[in-house]
Amino acid sequence: MPSYDYDLFVIGAGSGGVRAARVSAGYGARVAIAEEYRVGGTCVIRGCVPKKLLVYAAHVREEIEDAAGYGWTIPESRFDWASLIANKDREIDRLESVYRRALDNAKVTLIEGRARFADAHTIVIGGKRITADKILIATGGHPVRLPGFDEQNSITSNEAFYLETLPERIAIVGGGYIAVEFAGIFNGFGSQVSLLYRGEQILRGFDDDLRHGLAMELTRKGIDIRLHAVVHRIEPMVTGWRLHFGDGATMEVDKVMAATGRRPNTGDLDAALAGVKLDHHGAIVVDAYSKTSRENVYAIGDVTDRLNLTPVAIREAMAFADTVFGGRPWAMDHDGVASAVFSQPPIGTVGLTEAEARRRHGAIDIYKAGFRPMKHTLSGRQERTLMKLVVERSSQRVLGAHMLGPDAPEIIQAMAIAVKMGATKQQFDEAVAIHPTAAEEFVTMRMREPDPSDVGQVP
Ligand code: NDP
Repeated sequence: MPSYDYDLFVIGAGSGGVRAARVSAGYGARVAIAEEYRVGGTCVIRGCVPKKLLVYAAHVREEIEDAAGYGWTIPESRFDWASLIANKDREIDRLESVYRRALDNAKVTLIEGRARFADAHTIVIGGKRITADKILIATGGHPVRLPGFDEQNSITSNEAFYLETLPERIAIVGGGYIAVEFAGIFNGFGSQVSLLYRGEQILRGFDDDLRHGLAMELTRKGIDIRLHAVVHRIEPMVTGWRLHFGDGATMEVDKVMAATGRRPNTGDLDAALAGVKLDHHGAIVVDAYSKTSRENVYAIGDVTDRLNLTPVAIREAMAFADTVFGGRPWAMDHDGVASAVFSQPPIGTVGLTEAEARRRHGAIDIYKAGFRPMKHTLSGRQERTLMKLVVERSSQRVLGAHMLGPDAPEIIQAMAIAVKMGATKQQFDEAVAIHPTAAEEFVTMRMREPDPSDVGQVP
């Protein structure tokens, strides 16, 4: 057997790569990991973690406004973007050092630089050739800019975390997770936000009731949502930019943010030299065990474009390490993965939407609850929470649980256990409510929604 420098070489020290490296090293493998930017990857450095900190910060404004109804007089408040960003940066630095320490403690060699394949067992990094028996690609993804958008005229989420000043007027292009989350962030800080989406309704793929409910809440908070909006041209102005739309309309803003999806980081990898196949979007093609078209090369996380969520990449990493180095083969189950949109109010969702369930299962029962959260009886805020269960009629199994409202991600995380276990509506009903909470609605929904198929109008 040929001797290699390492048993495993991981390309990319994000959440997936770091976990795979540490666990494999724990099984006794000699492991190196390459990172070209910062240890921690998108989620920790310029994704989920700093995003959530900005969401907390933006939400403070509503907490202050809501306090009056509870008898508090709060002196005029002032928000300072620069101090928030500095504090956020400090926390991200701390987390990065935790990740570096974890690699060090696991005896994983960190090599800083951009890695490319020379062949299926050889990596070139900073002019040096390193060989490994197994190679794991965990290079993640990057935001895409559409034609007409460039580094001068627009930012992406990468830059949004480091802006020196808060824009007074910002146009966010896209209607997915990132667009909706940043719309709430900038709106909370007082920017005038326009959300420009090409389709019928934001958050395509989510349950329609939640999409419409969220669009209504965002509009109520002052976000200008423009549907069927296609930006044709971005014209520079003395200060800011003028957007020209397909229908001839224009809009002037200080900043344009492109939130139109992400693409796998495979451009500079020379994966072909290792015989590793990509699909037509540039994603690495893998089997259920995250193995590529090349026997000794694996790939996990966003670079495979399966379910682009951090906890999924981490689970894929665990499956990889257990299978390849731990002698316990198992494959990640990508079904029934819960997710959240940290919009304001947030969304939590697990399982099938109503539309998907009708398509796949035919007859279903829908239960819904819509109400004003108790907190807002005194705060006076006009915001509504929406909860929904999608149930297979024949088996009464709960196929999906969806929520729009405060704490939805926290609540749905718990619901995900029941849905994943295949719990029935009756089992939901047997759980006694915790009162007064919003979550109790999930165990007290008794009235089935009228079924459109009963009157011959299947949606
Ligand atoms: P998404 O895929 O969620 O959304 C992309 C948006 O851009 C969609 O609204 C899409 O419209 C629109 N779009 C795509 N192409 C074009 C085009 N040519 N012209 C106009 N609009 C276009 O991507 P994001 O960038 O928001 O996020 C990337 C991924 O990161 C997510 O899919 C998710 O997996 C992950 N993520 C998860 C988060 C979480 O868990 N909370 C938070 C942030 C990101 P259309 O729908 O019509 O295709």
